[in-house]
Amino acid sequence: MSASCPDFDTFMEGVKKRNPGQDEFVQAVHEVSHDIFDWIEDKHEYHEAEILRRMAEPDRIVSFRVCWEDDDHNIRVERGWRVQNNNAIGPYKGGLRFHPSVTESVLKFLAFEQTFKNSLTGLPMGGGKGGSNFNPKGKSEAEVMRFCQSFMTELYRHIGTDVDVPAGDIGVGSREIGYLFGQYKRITGRWEGVLTGKASEYGGSAVRVEATGYGAVHFLQNMLDGIDRDMEGQKVIISGSGNVALHAAEKLIDLGAKVLTLSDSDGCIHDPDGLDADKLQWVKELKLERRGRISEYADKFSSASFTEDGKPWDVDADIAMPCATQNEIGEEEAKSLADNGLCALVEGANMPTTVDAVEILREAKVLYAPGKAANAGGVAVSGLEMSQNAERVSWERGKLEDMLADLMRDIHGKCVEYGQQDGKDGYIDYPKGANIAGFKKVADAMLAFGVV
Ligand code: NDP
Repeated sequence: MSASCPDFDTFMEGVKKRNPGQDEFVQAVHEVSHDIFDWIEDKHEYHEAEILRRMAEPDRIVSFRVCWEDDDHNIRVERGWRVQNNNAIGPYKGGLRFHPSVTESVLKFLAFEQTFKNSLTGLPMGGGKGGSNFNPKGKSEAEVMRFCQSFMTELYRHIGTDVDVPAGDIGVGSREIGYLFGQYKRITGRWEGVLTGKASEYGGSAVRVEATGYGAVHFLQNMLDGIDRDMEGQKVIISGSGNVALHAAEKLIDLGAKVLTLSDSDGCIHDPDGLDADKLQWVKELKLERRGRISEYADKFSSASFTEDGKPWDVDADIAMPCATQNEIGEEEAKSLADNGLCALVEGANMPTTVDAVEILREAKVLYAPGKAANAGGVAVSGLEMSQNAERVSWERGKLEDMLADLMRDIHGKCVEYGQQDGKDGYIDYPKGANIAGFKKVADAMLAFGVV
């Protein structure tokens, strides 16, 4: 190898040195690069062009002050960011997250991951992510609106349909997208598809709301097909009770699986009888409309128990679907899952499993689908929302559901193509497959552009 091609440890030392205190970002780069390093060992063009090093350095990060006035007339100051990681294959694309845990490191990790995820969809979308440490929880409607307006007053100059198209994420649902879009339109005077996740009345796509959760279950279905195992009767433990968790649960129940748990940041409910369509409808009203707490489920349904600060990972199950937040499954939880004979873990959330936990799952031959592949359905339908907006059309639900299922089958196929392991009894290394397939398309585009 040439001098410009360090070994993996030297490469990671450099990443750590250039990104002090940014543990989430370093973790994400470590996880991806580990797989890529092996694959590019004999591919000198990528080394010579320093492709991996360039991908691990965002194109730009915009950071800005967001001032707003609360209902008691206090002036509040938060920080906003947009990380534009890579636009080699299309405009930057990725969600906005409003949560107190948001930092530059978290957004850099998410934008980096998004670059590979968007590439895997096969659609022309680059990678970005943004957000704020603003906490919408407990704020009045008027406060959320004023915050969103102030946030967009800074962000609008950095985005555009061919530049950067943000969407929702944790803490940014259809209400926030409405306020953000309204402010963009007010400032620029233009109606254009500059945000996705819009409501159907003003350019939103059918199936976008359900797409991440449904897509993750399609991915799981493809995994199970590969090992001749039926979805019917599979016991599934899910964390979270937001958009992704509840739509994953909906599709699972539809396909005959038994959903045993849900959670939120207060704790976890366990219903040994499983959720059915009626119970799930009740939770959807509780969490998505009334913004209530999941503990109320155990008050309503006597078959269930609630554990404060509890997590689902010690409940005996066939499938685990972490759908809440990053790093919710560490070594201890992974051991418990593996000891209980888990068949597959499918990430609805972004990076919910730590690097060490993934190793334990791999050792135990648990099928493991990383978020960048399994939860790509959301951004894929966002890409289809962009296409519909550009064409000024709305496709019908059935067509979009079919397109989502096809996209998830293709993503699964790419993971299998690059993740097949010689001499490992057919065990598919899904993260490796996803990382290499995602990397290759972006890397080849970057090579074509020369040094820019
Ligand atoms: P929501 O805000 O709708 O729901 C998040 C859920 O996770 C809530 O139940 C929330 O509980 C829980 N949660 C959040 N933080 C924590 C925490 N620190 N500990 C325990 N529980 C927590 O978000 P989404 O469902 O949209 O997103 C969930 C995950 O999926 C995120 O990682 C997101 O990046 C990822 N994702 C989402 C996509 C989408 O289309 N929405 C697309 C791809 C990935 P509480 O109610 O207490 O806040």
